[in-house]
Amino acid sequence: MSAKIISGTEIREAILEEIAAEVKEIKEKHSIVPGLVTILVGENPASVSYVTLKIKTAHRLGFHEVQDNQSPDISEEDLLALIDKYNKDDSIHGILVQLPLPKHIDEKKVLNAIDPDKDVDGFHPVNVGRLMIGGDEVKFAPCTPAGIQEMIIRTGVETSGAEVVVVGRSNIVGKPIANMMLQKGPGANSTVTVVHTRTKDLAAHCKRADILIVAAGVPGLVKPEWIKPGACVIDVGVNRVGEKPSAKDPGKMVAILRGDVDFDAAKEIAGSITPVPGGVGPMTITMLMKNTLKAMKFAAEIQ
Ligand code: NAP
Repeated sequence: MSAKIISGTEIREAILEEIAAEVKEIKEKHSIVPGLVTILVGENPASVSYVTLKIKTAHRLGFHEVQDNQSPDISEEDLLALIDKYNKDDSIHGILVQLPLPKHIDEKKVLNAIDPDKDVDGFHPVNVGRLMIGGDEVKFAPCTPAGIQEMIIRTGVETSGAEVVVVGRSNIVGKPIANMMLQKGPGANSTVTVVHTRTKDLAAHCKRADILIVAAGVPGLVKPEWIKPGACVIDVGVNRVGEKPSAKDPGKMVAILRGDVDFDAAKEIAGSITPVPGGVGPMTITMLMKNTLKAMKFAAEIQ
């Protein structure tokens, strides 16, 4: 039987509607709205399109949104001063610095300068520590892992006692999602294994997984025979494997994207599976919006 296809696009729309409704209600009751600033240094085309989408989504939800574009020549000192300005601005609840930054700027120093209570990306060491402790300590989970967990919950997959195998140990996906799935609480309580390039028998680990989360960045790494029948497969990988004419504008070439899992074959074995594109991808910006709303509620002490 073919797997249930977990549509990130549909889940995104449901969550964005919930956020918009909550923003409207809070605005009526408390006269405040979430404020998000995106700081873009330079004009890297991919960064420009990510920032534009973030700002467009914030606008759609009724947020106060600020797009602060800076020259690629901005000094590290001036960028730190800019962050300090937004740290002190009460109308801004979330600060997002679009990465990568130019080489003359120390990314770590910049990200660590963001007030942890406005760190809606969840990358500040304070928030990484809070995530590790779990429970009430957690303020902001990083957006892609938060999106993955939300998809698993909304698909109705049992996580308590489930064998979760995470392929990849990056700081932005593998490590945080592994940590989140092993916490006590809803959508977690799993038994977690993390595998990587030094793992001896990748296939054997994957075959045990009730929930297989793959974030390696290697197209087709996970073979269909590695998937346990009925498993939930979350494919985080986004790999450009070629180009094709755009469906909307055939004169224009667009990237052909593939995940880390052989989707067509895997969907005949898995119980549920995310496609690429249209799976995890749409969830990341959605969770950024959710984190910004959360940041505003913390700041205004709204339950
Ligand atoms: P990353 O920093 O490159 O980390 C990849 C991880 O996968 C590393 O831990 C690496 O192991 C492991 N790995 C690579 N090849 C492997 C192999 N053959 N066998 C076992 N493990 C292997 O990547 P990332 O930032 O986590 O991103 C992973 C993928 O997710 C990328 O395709 C990226 O584009 C995508 N992504 C998507 C979203 C989204 O949809 N919103 C967000 C973030 C990332 P080692 O540590 O041993 O090197």
